[in-house]
Amino acid sequence: MHETADPPRVTATASVLEPSDVYGDVVSGVLHEVLGRPWLVALLAVLALVKVVGVGRAVVHGRHPRDPVRRLSRTDRRVVLDRASHRCEHHSLVEGRCRATEDLQADHVHPHSRGGATAVENGQALCRRHNKQKSARVPWDWQLRRLARRRVAYSPPGVPTAVVRRPHRPSEVTSPTPA
Ligand SMILES: [Zn+2]
Repeated sequence: MHETADPPRVTATASVLEPSDVYGDVVSGVLHEVLGRPWLVALLAVLALVKVVGVGRAVVHGRHPRDPVRRLSRTDRRVVLDRASHRCEHHSLVEGRCRATEDLQADHVHPHSRGGATAVENGQALCRRHNKQKSARVPWDWQLRRLARRRVAYSPPGVPTAVVRRPHRPSEVTSPTPA
């Protein structure tokens, strides 16, 4: 009974302008503008590539299980700060090494959220500002090598300067050996 009471509304929407039409016009207009400028196409392509590579590396590194320990021990923090001669290790091409010596924090070079180990080898001393500024971006191998090379100049003699994202710990590599 009640089925017949429903008004036929199938034809009512046919003539209405769909929002997707307007959206499509805007998109094609923007595309037309962009494609008319080769340098803009090249720039967008490079930006897209950088983004894709960054996301790809974050995904790859994010697959590593996170270190169950989030923060360095007090002893390890001291080792990291001693190795940095108690000065921020942030380095920029323009300004060189940061001069901050107060409020230093022991930070993960390879972010903990991306599978970086909570270990002295993956630690660096950063001032509050540069620690805040640092994102969860995964550093490249050449950046780790450059940090290690810079450390040679300011670390106490005999202290290892290499940066290792996920150092093998003796407890992890030892297996039960037959007696
Ligand atoms: Zn700094």
